[in-house]
Amino acid sequence: MINRRTLLKRLSAIPLVGTVVGSGIPVQSVFAHTPSVPKRDMIKELGLRTFINAAGTYTAMTASLMPEEVMETIEASSKEFIMLDEVQDKVGEKIAEICHAEAATVTSGCWSAMVLGLAGVLTGTDKEKIAQLPNLKGMKSQVIVQKTHNVAYVHALKNTGVELVEVETAEDVEKAINDQTAMLWFLNYTAPEGKIQHEEWVALGKKHNIPTMIDIAADVPPVENLWKFNDMGFDMVCISGGKAMKGPQSAGILMGRKNIIEAARLSAPPRGNTIGRGMKVNKEEILGMYVALELYVKKDHEKEWKSWEQKIAYIEEMAKKVNGVTTSVSVPPVANHTPFLKISWDPAKINLDRTQMQEKLRKGNPSIEVIGFGEHEISCTVFMLRPEEEKIVARRIQEELKAAIA
Ligand SMILES: *Cc1c(COP(=O)(O)O)cnc(C)c1O
Repeated sequence: MINRRTLLKRLSAIPLVGTVVGSGIPVQSVFAHTPSVPKRDMIKELGLRTFINAAGTYTAMTASLMPEEVMETIEASSKEFIMLDEVQDKVGEKIAEICHAEAATVTSGCWSAMVLGLAGVLTGTDKEKIAQLPNLKGMKSQVIVQKTHNVAYVHALKNTGVELVEVETAEDVEKAINDQTAMLWFLNYTAPEGKIQHEEWVALGKKHNIPTMIDIAADVPPVENLWKFNDMGFDMVCISGGKAMKGPQSAGILMGRKNIIEAARLSAPPRGNTIGRGMKVNKEEILGMYVALELYVKKDHEKEWKSWEQKIAYIEEMAKKVNGVTTSVSVPPVANHTPFLKISWDPAKINLDRTQMQEKLRKGNPSIEVIGFGEHEISCTVFMLRPEEEKIVARRIQEELKAAIA
């Protein structure tokens, strides 16, 4: 504790430049804005590598860049205090309205949306149960998933203490359901590989009165996916905020039934004795998420798609000029649903493998990240490129291909 005398002594040690009118409170130069100090460039200062992202919305590559409107929202809201729950209430209402959901809340990514949504299902509004998770005593303990949906992200569900029960057919689901079944989980991006499709999954949930959740983390575009699964009847929809929606990378959305979202929020900050206390989203990012969503919904998606096609065509043309190169363009059916360019080469004509090519592009100036699967090919997307960057990507790829001609 600082007593009055110490405080006065400390204050008097700071050069006085004036007083706030009428208050008699001294204004110290330390509080005054000093525009002469140059802004710090932390990227330079720390020597961090930046790059052109021709890969996509990869978490490891920091996913996406926030539009100026989102940054302005973050900046402006950082100057005020607001009650965390009040920001969530208001933003949740707005997001729910846009996405045809009964309710919504901003989470720290799609992953936390899954944890919190399931926590809400397991505990309801029971305070003891909320404090008890991940100990499931007195609660249900199983979540049913299709075998083809059982990927690494289910770890989010397991965090609540549940075990996963794998199924393949609707018949399997009927057999697997018992009094311990808490939820039916669906992973949108592997839907084409599964035997049970969305509507049937929802119907199974309704028939047995078991809530259904869908993970659509990276599944806009198309923009309609924001409301499609709420309309379809999924009780919870989880999505990433920082992928193609270009919200804060650490934000996401949980939306769905009002009673579940309310229960889920009881496991989320600011409440402390909960499984979700570490999944905090600050007010800046809650508001930033909302603005990003709004911008995303309002944008001219057709025009954007055309510009992606043009950029892909530009890179493709440049690469194809090199003898021995073949290209193909495809669009993944579900997640990261944007044009994808594959550039392959004949190793007899071009003496280069994929990792060497990636390394050359990475080490070049400017540094470029692309993805790759086969040994003599790379792939790129253009939806994370800033204006004109497709020209640099095209030129650099062509340069390296030419340089490796055998
Ligand atoms: C990215 C992703 C997640 C995790 O989302 P975050 O927003 O990073 O928490 C979950 N599921 C799938 C299918 C994803 O692609």
